[in-house]
Amino acid sequence: MPPSLLIDLSGDHHIHTKLCNHASGEMEDYVQAAIGKGLRSMTFLEHLECGLRYEQQIWLTSELFEQYFAEGGRLQQKYTDQIEVRLGVEIGWNALAADELRAALARFPFEHRGLSCHFYFDGSRHLNLLSSKQEHITALRAAEAEQVLAAYFVSLIEACGEIPCDKLCHLDAALRHLPEVRLTSRHQEQISQLLDILRVKGIALEVNTSGYAVRPAPYPGLEIIRQAAAMGIALIPGSDAHHPEQVGRHFEQIRQLLSP
Ligand SMILES: [Zn+2]
Ligand SMILES: [Zn+2]
Repeated sequence: MPPSLLIDLSGDHHIHTKLCNHASGEMEDYVQAAIGKGLRSMTFLEHLECGLRYEQQIWLTSELFEQYFAEGGRLQQKYTDQIEVRLGVEIGWNALAADELRAALARFPFEHRGLSCHFYFDGSRHLNLLSSKQEHITALRAAEAEQVLAAYFVSLIEACGEIPCDKLCHLDAALRHLPEVRLTSRHQEQISQLLDILRVKGIALEVNTSGYAVRPAPYPGLEIIRQAAAMGIALIPGSDAHHPEQVGRHFEQIRQLLSP
């Protein structure tokens, strides 16, 4: 990577496929899209979630992860001269299912592990922190959004201690559809604590360009990226593609944002 850049943008390391039940496109469509964009590497980061009380199954079951590795292995071979394809996982933290998550991680040879937290447990059900659906937004507002956000950061801090991983995904994307919620000084302190854990454990920070679909910045925002980079935390770009066209989206904006 050029020495002037803080981040290697030759690969997209957060890609979903239709296997998760809320994205479209076959795995091969994404490989071809990445090659078409001139990328040299890509990482599928399929959703693993355990123990959720949630109405829809929007993650992969063990059977689907078996299909994922079979098809992914075929694509790695087929496209070996054109692109490096890695088969990773986006681990959705759930404190109520830590053992189940660890068992699932032990069952499959994931090549890259991103850690996320997508849900907030309100005592009876899991609320989706990232959903744009009005019923989730209303429920999160009713649960006191600032408290929910603080609980989210507590979850991430806890998750980094419990689950081995390579990177932390979309750090400040929770409550992305509640624009009135701002990071308070308490949240900022939690983020600093979290970054310190990343530094100590050698966990990278993802720069997730899906943020540009919602606001004029990636997840996390520039200040947090700068804070992490100054601490020596590695940065990894990912589009969070849920459609083949989204592979490598907004990477040029990241190049400009992070150029000195
Ligand atoms: Zn998804
Ligand atoms: Zn995610």
